[in-house]
Amino acid sequence: MKKTKNTTHQLYGSMHTDIEGVENLIELALNIRWSWNHASDELWQQLDPELWEFTRNPWVILQTVSRDRLEQHLSDPDFREKLDGLLRLNKEVLSAPSWFQQKHPKTKLRTVAYFSMEYMLNEALPIYAGGLGNVAGDQLKSASDLGVPVVAVGLLYDKGYFRQEIDKYGTQNALFPYNDPGQLPITPLRLPNGEWLRLKVSLPGHPIWLRAWQVKVGRSKLYLLDSNDAANLPVHRGITDELYGGGPDHRIKQEIVLGIGGYKLLKALDIDPEVCHMNEGHAAFLVLERANDFMKANGTSFEEALAVTRAGNLFTTHTAVPAGFDHFSPSLMEQFLGRYAKEELGIDFNDLMALGRADSNNQWESFNMAYLAIRGSGAVNGVSRLHSEVSRNLFTNLFPRWPIPEIPVDHVTNGVHMPCWDSKYADELWTESCGKDRWRGELADHEAHISKIPDAKLWQFRNRSRNRLVSFIREKFERQAIVSGLPSEIVETAKRVFDPNTLTLGFARRFVPYKRPDLLLHDPERFIRILTNPEHPVQLVLAGKAPPFDESGKALIRKWVQFIQQHNLHRHVLFLSDYDMMLTENLVQGVDVWLNTPRRPWEASGTSGMKVLVNGGLNLSELDGWWAEAYTPEVGWALGDGQEHGDDPAWDAAEAEALYDILEQQVVPEFYARNKKDVPEQWVARMRKSMATLTPQFSANRTVREYTEQFYLPGAARYKKRAARKGAAGKRVLDAAHDLGQKWDAIKFGKVQIESERQKHHFKVPVWLNEINPKNIIVELFAEGLNGKPPERINMKFDWMGEQGEHNFYAQVNTPRPTNHYTVRILPDYEGVAVPLEDNMIQWQH
Ligand SMILES: *Cc1c(COP(=O)(O)O)cnc(C)c1O
Repeated sequence: MKKTKNTTHQLYGSMHTDIEGVENLIELALNIRWSWNHASDELWQQLDPELWEFTRNPWVILQTVSRDRLEQHLSDPDFREKLDGLLRLNKEVLSAPSWFQQKHPKTKLRTVAYFSMEYMLNEALPIYAGGLGNVAGDQLKSASDLGVPVVAVGLLYDKGYFRQEIDKYGTQNALFPYNDPGQLPITPLRLPNGEWLRLKVSLPGHPIWLRAWQVKVGRSKLYLLDSNDAANLPVHRGITDELYGGGPDHRIKQEIVLGIGGYKLLKALDIDPEVCHMNEGHAAFLVLERANDFMKANGTSFEEALAVTRAGNLFTTHTAVPAGFDHFSPSLMEQFLGRYAKEELGIDFNDLMALGRADSNNQWESFNMAYLAIRGSGAVNGVSRLHSEVSRNLFTNLFPRWPIPEIPVDHVTNGVHMPCWDSKYADELWTESCGKDRWRGELADHEAHISKIPDAKLWQFRNRSRNRLVSFIREKFERQAIVSGLPSEIVETAKRVFDPNTLTLGFARRFVPYKRPDLLLHDPERFIRILTNPEHPVQLVLAGKAPPFDESGKALIRKWVQFIQQHNLHRHVLFLSDYDMMLTENLVQGVDVWLNTPRRPWEASGTSGMKVLVNGGLNLSELDGWWAEAYTPEVGWALGDGQEHGDDPAWDAAEAEALYDILEQQVVPEFYARNKKDVPEQWVARMRKSMATLTPQFSANRTVREYTEQFYLPGAARYKKRAARKGAAGKRVLDAAHDLGQKWDAIKFGKVQIESERQKHHFKVPVWLNEINPKNIIVELFAEGLNGKPPERINMKFDWMGEQGEHNFYAQVNTPRPTNHYTVRILPDYEGVAVPLEDNMIQWQH
């Protein structure tokens, strides 16, 4: 890697860099490890308590603090000792041997490049909207903990995603505060000669320059690009203005910057990743640029280069509905990538379009970024077991005649970065039980350790956590009530809203209809009775943003706010505005039960419910996304029957009733059933089980280990093999595919003969291969899987050769199944290509 230098001082002249020791503070502030390791909080708080409370951003504090104050603290021996100690510790932790080095010492994997449109790392760096950014941020942090060599690439937005204000009528207003780069914990990425790294990317009419920034995330680095360079045309300066703003022409430019610009950035830094991981299809243009780069470096054709490089690309899909994929019209594609196809890739524009179309001959079909990602990858995965099934159904048209269970979408279920979502009480409890380094290894012993914590201690932990949440809610609500102009009678009640001993439910997520945020309002009278039961009361805290132009989502927020006001329920229900990472942290650390009510199967994974696990919160959720695989009766509560019912209002009504029933008959009684020591034993047993078994399983640590072992390491090996000798394998892959393609349709099957003896069946079949080399195919028996099991596939062996190209194959099957369950089929098999992902041909015996 080329050396880059952080000549911070050149840009931030105002900071008092000449004071002895300040460089240590800078180093601490610029590694956002502080956002999950809270050891340095105290220092920042000492420097500026108020600013710290509101921003949690050490970098802002360093920019703002006066010279006198800095000098005073840095000359205080206690402060200095703490600071130097922290820095030493940081260095130790960040250079200690990691899981990756220990487990895979001989690996050839040097770099995984991770591409994502958004990253949720910390509220001080608002370049995220929600779940997708959460997944990216948490995995990057875990990659750092585990020492997996990931560099991440993203965009720096002038304004990020919108911030939410809710007025007293319950109307959501969208606000776009400016991200002042000088106040974000990022630094310009400079070359050794001090020059700020700028990249040139061609867009029609005028090149555009992209500025590069660096964020340190523990051992990992995130590089961000933005287009607000003075040399750019005004229309180009705004490309990276907002996350998910503007129309398709805005989006395509952002995606060009991310995919093509992002890959060029890596090259400018001399980074040559073996694996590129696309977090959603937004980044799929990198497939083109990676192949382009390989082709130029090795003198291959574009198609050969793609056949080589795709082996090292991984595509993670996150959506459960076709509308979730980005599509671009042919004219938009022509405008922005027509010349790129011809002049850079050396291919016809229609060949480029074919990569994003289900039907390459359909001139009207738009360009689907997920299709490009699939055609440019060596592996594809969904984000939960259920979501991979759903995704297989979404991609069937790319794999005609293939059975749905064989559509090539694997799964890696999401997880969350536990050290970043645990409360300080949870941190203490887990440290005592499982040690300081508990999230850096394989998590194997956690269950046993958590099982040993006494009931009373767990319950005390829960009570303290709820207590802290109630204080937070009161403060936040008071501020919010004043700003939104609620009457002073209500503002005055803020100090008494909620109760630290009352069962506390939480619901926070995007307000979109499929998440059914108003399910609890189905029967308002019944819900009010549950909340205000004098002996066993319940309280609910809500938060969430509706997409800025989505009136139905905004109406759902209004419905809640008006419900609270009409029934004067502020003591039991509150809607907190501006759902962001800091708000999530407070909610997931304090609630007893986290609710989730999506319409199955539209929640691909969901991650917010995983954040309560480490904090002893329990989940009550629809059997969708991650909960469909996590749920057992001992760990929480399930809504729904595990089937799909679309958006049928009758089913919504039935689930609302079921939700009230679960609350009334199970959740509330169990919470209030106390033993002599005032401990709810069953509740605590459930907490313990959920903490002990689900926390390790739904930790991003497990997710990143799975990505590493199932995809990064094998992907790197496959890519290296194909890239060897200037990508010679690329040509062999194309030649074999071409040869098969020409001869494939003339493959003929003869009559299958079966000799059976009880449950032993001898299958024989003659096939005419039309001069296809039998080494390049597999002849097999196929039977659908029974009871949700994977299909049965039995390889048939070559037996003898008849006249005129007759090849005879045979197989013996021992099975109780009838022989008519088995069909003969022929698949491609050459050069280690992934079938059907890389070659979707198939022939069935009729
Ligand atoms: C965790 C989180 C999300 C994602 O949660 P879901 O379960 O997918 O709804 C979204 N936004 C914020 C601010 C979060 O912290």
